[in-house]
Amino acid sequence: MTTIAVALQAVRERIAKAARAANRPEKDITLLAISKGKPVEAIREAYRNGQRAFGESYLQEALPKLAALHDLPIEWHFVGPIQSNKTRDIAGHFSWVHGVDRGKIAQRLSGLRAGDLRALQICLQVNVSGETSKHGVGASSLRALADSVRKLPGLQLRGLMAIPAAAGDDALQHRQYKTMRSLMDELNRDGFGLDTLSMGMSRDIEAAIAEGATMLRVGSAIFGERTRTGQARQ
Ligand SMILES: *Cc1c(COP(=O)(O)O)cnc(C)c1O
Repeated sequence: MTTIAVALQAVRERIAKAARAANRPEKDITLLAISKGKPVEAIREAYRNGQRAFGESYLQEALPKLAALHDLPIEWHFVGPIQSNKTRDIAGHFSWVHGVDRGKIAQRLSGLRAGDLRALQICLQVNVSGETSKHGVGASSLRALADSVRKLPGLQLRGLMAIPAAAGDDALQHRQYKTMRSLMDELNRDGFGLDTLSMGMSRDIEAAIAEGATMLRVGSAIFGERTRTGQARQ
């Protein structure tokens, strides 16, 4: 087996074990392979080993990779910060966008999503770590943003996404993930019908699953440490 095949298997085993510990069905948890900073051959290798959903963070890096992998029916997720001038390409090439945190960005994505494509699947990025991140909508503004995104054509609001404060403090991480879960529950009590909590990275798969994550964004645990472009934090 190749290094990537072995690593992917190990990640799947971590997920299965954490799901059992949390008494959750494993099928409720989707593994997203974050391939930023990694070459096309690494993505093909993960695909050969059964991985179907991949995430990229940097549009300029992602576009040529998506083109080179055109022959594979990969589900592409954009997980990086979104600038207005990137919305056209994001709306044109991706199935999911995880970092939406402003109404203006959502409106642009909606306007630019071609009518013949399936609706763009959206997660709203929530700033659960307080002032440590400049990205993400604050918890107090989430409801208003969710309300406006829900009404936009060409988009389907699926859930919430978080990049928690740096690892090292397990209790803090659990608390932040728990907050995400209750924010989603609150919206669902008001009929939003959200089904996706995008949280958990290589280091904190277990904490995220314990607190209800449905989509894990895992990079280095599958592909190895990044040396070039990829920084995990925004
Ligand atoms: C890079 C990145 C990840 C993956 O991080 P790892 O620690 O390598 O698993 C997840 N989410 C986002 C938004 C990222 O930018």
